Amino acid sequence: MTPGRPTAPHRTYLQEALALAREAQASGSSPVGAVLVDAGGEIIGRGRNRVGEAQTPEHVGAASVAHAEMDLFFAAGKLRDPETLTLYTSLEPCLMCGGASALLGVGRVVWATDDPWGGSGRLIKWSDHPAMQETQVLPCPDPELEAEGARLFAPEAKRAFPDEGWALWQERYPAETADVE
Ligand SMILES: [Zn+2]
Repeated sequence: MTPGRPTAPHRTYLQEALALAREAQASGSSPVGAVLVDAGGEIIGRGRNRVGEAQTPEHVGAASVAHAEMDLFFAAGKLRDPETLTLYTSLEPCLMCGGASALLGVGRVVWATDDPWGGSGRLIKWSDHPAMQETQVLPCPDPELEAEGARLFAPEAKRAFPDEGWALWQERYPAETADVE
């Protein structure tokens, strides 16, 4: 982030995304949450990971693609003026969810914590992709919430990712991964 830039406007929404991530975890899914915010600052969509749960058709079926962002987009339906919207997520979107955000024309994506293994940034540079150039990306604007998000997801990263992926997490977030069993 730009030094001295206030983090407060992002903080509330990232905290809401993290709260949804904890709700997902409590329901047996992966701890990732997301909210969609309009130009006036109102939350117009909420989503969370549902991969570990029985699915209903409106929640993208019984598929392991039930990521928080997809959950949100399926529930939100057709977006009005998507270029004015900001998607806040607890964790850097994967290629699917980043791609969906760009395809829908969402103006900005902000995430609390990087995902050095599963995040789309490892695979593509958004600004280089013709279909994604219109979507502004703001990673980790709030250091405190970044650490909170890393601690929340770290056990899942260790469980779900291969050794190579967990190693990237340890390298990116040494303090937050140190005590993970
Ligand atoms: Zn995803």
